Amino acid sequence: MIDDCLFCKLAAGDIPATIVRETDRLVAFRDIAPQARVHVLVIPRDHYADIGALAAADPQLAGELAAAAAAIAEAEGVGGGWRLVFNTGEDAGQTVFHVHGHVLGGGVLRGLA
Ligand code: 5GP
Ligand code: ZN
Repeated sequence: MIDDCLFCKLAAGDIPATIVRETDRLVAFRDIAPQARVHVLVIPRDHYADIGALAAADPQLAGELAAAAAAIAEAEGVGGGWRLVFNTGEDAGQTVFHVHGHVLGGGVLRGLA
């Protein structure tokens, strides 16, 4: 746990969130400012700055995160079309430096990538 990390505090229960799924290693919760009908963030409880750091340190956990994202998309009713986005680095718009996958779905998604 990193003391000044928002998502470490959220995973520890020190900051309230609408949690949709959790395991001993992962927590998923609704984004506070949703950009799609379904917008859920999936994070590991342990602190890694970004997806590269997580995948290098614990590839199994990175895989668990991806599997959780797929299960959330199904549970939220968007299994037919969804995105898993990892903004990585300031130039990509990453604002919270505790790795989080954005699960985005609902309606028809268009745009980059
Ligand atoms: P990033 O821009 O780093 O990829 O994404 C950070 C995301 O975290 C944003 O979509 C933002 O709305 C969300 N967020 C920031 N603070 C909070 C919070 O306190 N609670 C929740 N649920 N989401 C947050
Ligand atoms: Zn953290």
